[in-house]
Amino acid sequence: MGKALIIGCGGVASVAIHKCCQNSEIFDDIMIASRTKSKCDALKQKLDGGKTKISTAQVDADSTEQLINLINEYNPDIVLNLALPYQDLSIMDACLATKKHYVDTANYEPPETAKFEYKWQWAYRDKFEAAGITALLGSGFDPGVTSVFSAYALKHHFDEINYIDILDCNGGDHGYPFATNFNPEINIREVTANGSYWENGTWVETKPMQIKRSYDFAEVGKKDMYLLHHEELESLGSNIKGIKRIRFFMTFGESYLTHLICLQNVGMTSIEPIEFEGKQIIPLQFLKAVLPDPASLGPRTVGKTNIGCIFTGIKDGREKNYYLYNICDHQECYKEVGSQAVSYTTGVPAMIGTMLVMNGEWQKPGVYNVEEFDPDPFMAALNKWGLPWKESFDPVLVD
Ligand code: NDP
Repeated sequence: MGKALIIGCGGVASVAIHKCCQNSEIFDDIMIASRTKSKCDALKQKLDGGKTKISTAQVDADSTEQLINLINEYNPDIVLNLALPYQDLSIMDACLATKKHYVDTANYEPPETAKFEYKWQWAYRDKFEAAGITALLGSGFDPGVTSVFSAYALKHHFDEINYIDILDCNGGDHGYPFATNFNPEINIREVTANGSYWENGTWVETKPMQIKRSYDFAEVGKKDMYLLHHEELESLGSNIKGIKRIRFFMTFGESYLTHLICLQNVGMTSIEPIEFEGKQIIPLQFLKAVLPDPASLGPRTVGKTNIGCIFTGIKDGREKNYYLYNICDHQECYKEVGSQAVSYTTGVPAMIGTMLVMNGEWQKPGVYNVEEFDPDPFMAALNKWGLPWKESFDPVLVD
């Protein structure tokens, strides 16, 4: 039983908050605090009446001072950051000042450059350890579940893992020619950045979308997928024993890519500020404002996601392959919590990671990525809270 302060009230937060309310034995009291309080109030109104007590507040999470005041007033056991990656450090600073545990789903991003790396948050390790509090980084799906899958595979199926391919397939169709499934700014930054993968202790960089493969996904079918840089490659590269190569692939439809290339060619995906009618604007932030809100895609998205990892390594002296994955149905998610599967697959693990820190199973002073903890309670919770996983010992490998 405990109190959680949840920051942000967008697509992912909405699912995590629904799940906290379903799990009222652990989350008996939550506060939803975000930039736009009316969104927090609307969600509270929808969920009130259950066993979890819900309160709401307005906060600018870029301001550590505002956060400290709010934390002191509400006095939670833990802060779950489901705002944007730009707010990670201001929220971690507030947790340090008030000695509260911290959980997030995405690495800190400096607003002016797309980096997707952990160095800024890993620099907090000593401070969190000295303060006696836990920071759990990357408790979404990827990073998050894919990282826990890696720790689970190593614990139960391998003596060493040499190759990991993370395959993120969204077979959903929302009917729009172009829309993103989560925050458009973060999504487009990720997709238009150079790709890279980790091989033999160094990064190999590629042009955006340079490496393309096709894969036949269970319950979705054959899809084109592209190699991207992704933040968990960095942490898994250092935390999983024996790694020689890790790659991350994401599927994209033709319409999405055609629009993206066009938007990129005309400069709409740039994060360099430009002057427009006497005001500085960032083209990508303007683009976000004209695109459909990812939260509005729920009712119209049909199809399934299939996200998982293919591992190749050694067990008892012999080479072995193993595939762990989850399949999630967009419409089933919408029926349960009013959101599509991309928000669902991130919001559920955010609740689970927060629960495991709160109940002490994953509490250890310092800053940790999810694969550094025992994967077993997280894997059991995935089955219980809506993201059951499947395994295959004879997967088709990616060349
Ligand atoms: P949304 O844009 O839907 O929601 C973001 C929320 O944060 C909004 O409620 C927004 O407020 C709020 N917010 C933004 N800035 C501030 C601020 N300065 N102060 C207070 N609140 C603020 O994003 P998503 O829900 O799609 O994504 C949430 C996080 O999850 C992101 O960090 C994203 O990168 C991560 N993510 C992780 C994944 C994973 O698998 N690990 C997958 C998908 C997403 P307002 O309503 O006013 O705009």
